[in-house]
Amino acid sequence: MSFENILGQDRPKQTLNKALRSGRIPNAYLFHGQKSVGKKFTAIEVGKALNCKTLGPVNSCDKCASCIKIEKRIHPDLFIIEPKKSSPTSREAILKIDEVRELQKKLLYLPYEGKTKVAIINNAECMNPQAANSFLKTLEEPPSKTLIILIASNLYQLLPTVVSRCQGIRFHPLPTQAIKTIIRNHLESEGSETQPEEIELRSRRSMGQVVCALGTDLLEILNEREELIQLVSLVSFKRMDQVFLWTKAKSKQTEHIQLILDELTRILRDTVLIKIDPETSAVFNTDLTKQLKKLSLQKSTPALLKMFETVQVTKVAIKLNANSQLALENMLISFCEAA
Ligand SMILES: [Zn+2]
Repeated sequence: MSFENILGQDRPKQTLNKALRSGRIPNAYLFHGQKSVGKKFTAIEVGKALNCKTLGPVNSCDKCASCIKIEKRIHPDLFIIEPKKSSPTSREAILKIDEVRELQKKLLYLPYEGKTKVAIINNAECMNPQAANSFLKTLEEPPSKTLIILIASNLYQLLPTVVSRCQGIRFHPLPTQAIKTIIRNHLESEGSETQPEEIELRSRRSMGQVVCALGTDLLEILNEREELIQLVSLVSFKRMDQVFLWTKAKSKQTEHIQLILDELTRILRDTVLIKIDPETSAVFNTDLTKQLKKLSLQKSTPALLKMFETVQVTKVAIKLNANSQLALENMLISFCEAA
């Protein structure tokens, strides 16, 4: 089955395989777990298996017309809805009630050419309350010959009544070997040379998430790291000039702020780990061990932990539309207090 295409995720694969083989498939699944670990990919594979013309509904061939149409997302019985940003400048994408209603209408009909309609709601936690309440009706009275797959990275943002009507399947961060294979395949498909050091670095930094492992702005972000180490090392009430210089420059990089703050999180994490055990093998930024060791000698553990916590608070504030420059200034003033 093309489930072989899914790397890692042995438990979810086993559960789904068992359900497909026994024919006891629930009306709705809820695939949950952190972002970018293969939930949507798996949902598509389930859609293929249920409709495959040669091996379905237990298996899929990846060759028949149905498998090919599902792979290309043009099968008339496959519906995928995803959150959209209401305008190019809005930070959060939402799933609106109109889209949910549109989907509900389509699910009233019998399958058009396949055996089972498959409706995938990606990032289901982005449904606004009206959309979620409306969708609840579909879960309560499931349409025939239909499998609904909700995908969510944060279960707690979903209505409990929605969660309780689905069979949950938990997805875990991908194991290192799976991530390395994905990186290698991706680089090869792009015609790039595969350097073992690059694969190693990407996989270490990915935390089991494909999107982090394949990020195209990796090099750009990597170059930020030394500047960030320098910043943490220098920042103090005596060097407020640094605070304002840095925040002014970074607050303009709206697209990159979250990535920069993630990078800062990794640096603080690595520094704390080195402080606890200078020989630790758990650091993400293995190529910067020397600089990180130096930083770990300059800062106390409580100061580093306080900074770590402040970065998390800042990330949330910026996500919730706080003024980026003010939020970054606040963060660095807390750094000064901690230092
Ligand atoms: Zn097929």
